[in-house]
Amino acid sequence: MSTELPDNWGWIKRQQERMSTPEYIEGEKIVRTFTTNLRMEKKLYELLNEHIKVCPFNPTEENPFPAGAIGGVLTYSFTDTHIGQVCKVNCACGGEFDITEYEDW
Ligand SMILES: [Zn+2]
Repeated sequence: MSTELPDNWGWIKRQQERMSTPEYIEGEKIVRTFTTNLRMEKKLYELLNEHIKVCPFNPTEENPFPAGAIGGVLTYSFTDTHIGQVCKVNCACGGEFDITEYEDW
């Protein structure tokens, strides 16, 4: 029985391709990393520059660590689609910032 997957199982095929690359696997660990670029970070910076005016997790002199000593205010998430990768950044307060480069799709 063939282990070939039909073409419409694109994301599984992509996952197989990723897993077959030497840099993907370090020993027993599965290595997952994420990459942004300067354009995406600039977009995020501009969005956050407005957001900090209303965000309760914005550090102040009185409260330099509003999210706790270890931080963790921003969470990056990536979603693979058939036409490109969506990148969103979520603030601990519930704010969400889409820094996807749709223009590259
Ligand atoms: Zn916030």
